[in-house]
Amino acid sequence: MTTPLRPSFGTGTDQRIAGGELIIDIDALKANYRALARLSAPAVTAGVVKANAYGLGLDVIVPALLSEGCQRFFVAMPDEGIAVRSYAPDAAIFVLSGLYRREVADLYAQHRLTPVLNSPRDVSIWEAHCGAIGHRAPCAVHVDTGMNRLGMTVAEALSLAEENSLTQALDIALVMSHLACADQADHPLNAQQLQSFQQVRAAFPGVESSLANSAAVLFGKDFHHEMTRPGIALYAGLPVDTSDQGVHAPVVTVTARVVQLRTASAGVGVGYGATPLARDSRLAVAAIGYADGYPRALSSADVHLRGVRAAGGFGFLHGRRVPVIGRVTMDLTIFDVTDVGADVQPNDQIELIGPNISIHDVAAAAGTIPYEILTSLGSRFHRRIVGA
Ligand SMILES: *Cc1c(COP(=O)(O)O)cnc(C)c1O
Repeated sequence: MTTPLRPSFGTGTDQRIAGGELIIDIDALKANYRALARLSAPAVTAGVVKANAYGLGLDVIVPALLSEGCQRFFVAMPDEGIAVRSYAPDAAIFVLSGLYRREVADLYAQHRLTPVLNSPRDVSIWEAHCGAIGHRAPCAVHVDTGMNRLGMTVAEALSLAEENSLTQALDIALVMSHLACADQADHPLNAQQLQSFQQVRAAFPGVESSLANSAAVLFGKDFHHEMTRPGIALYAGLPVDTSDQGVHAPVVTVTARVVQLRTASAGVGVGYGATPLARDSRLAVAAIGYADGYPRALSSADVHLRGVRAAGGFGFLHGRRVPVIGRVTMDLTIFDVTDVGADVQPNDQIELIGPNISIHDVAAAAGTIPYEILTSLGSRFHRRIVGA
């Protein structure tokens, strides 16, 4: 007897009826963490798990990183930190986006989250909070060294260092900054930010410090300080060839189910906007679309979207590249399978990201970055965890 179908919309649909699969290879994730930790040593390697671990799920990613010895996590928002706490009872959890108001400080205390103080205003909120609870709960200090996003100025950090050395009002566990151009290794701002950061950390003797995201782990020891903070390299590797350093294992595979096959003649139109076919074609209609995070920008090379000529997405099926034909729609995308030798059948799964199609190539074809592809993946996939 077969197991009855268990539809569970939005929480990882039954594999037999889901439009596609999101497969997460936990062994690959762990291998990437180990490689980054090796490159970072003796600095410790934190795990950046904001945005639900870049869309992959805190429930699987946090326990896997913990099992590799990761004991420091970074999230963007307080409620993400609370979720991480439920999987990591003893880890340090840093919340990047600040405090914004006094009541939030109580929430931090309740879940032992470490706020990243981004401004003198954040500093006074946390000082008042520590005064009220009668002990100095740890905090981190974020210094803006040139990105002009989050963080206090270098001057503000230096005066905080001086003041706190007298008052000891704050227990500062970490001083951090973030690079604006780490994806361009030879950008002059990297060296400038490093120099400003060295000045700041010298003012906080005995306090751990951290500057490097994934890309900056490869910049070498000068950028590692006491802690590195990789995110994307855990999940997608790095866009540069780091296979010799072990940071390359593809963690994510995305596939889409073929729901209908059809043949159509040269010249007829396909999909919205009726993109004309260049040849007699065999077409596979797959149950994935922009509502699943498969970007409309991956519509076929001939489609004009808002005046921008798309580069054209493609999938991989039975050992062949299969191009997207026509427009990616909300729930469906059409692939040209004419050149696939094997017999394509309904229920076949077309690989869209995976061993044959890197997420970096998908992102480039869509005119975006792997971060956006990962964090946009929708809730209709069957999520399958392999490895571990
Ligand atoms: C997102 C983020 C990171 C991780 O960056 P990756 O490029 O994904 O490695 C590190 N630090 C801060 C402050 C961040 O916002």
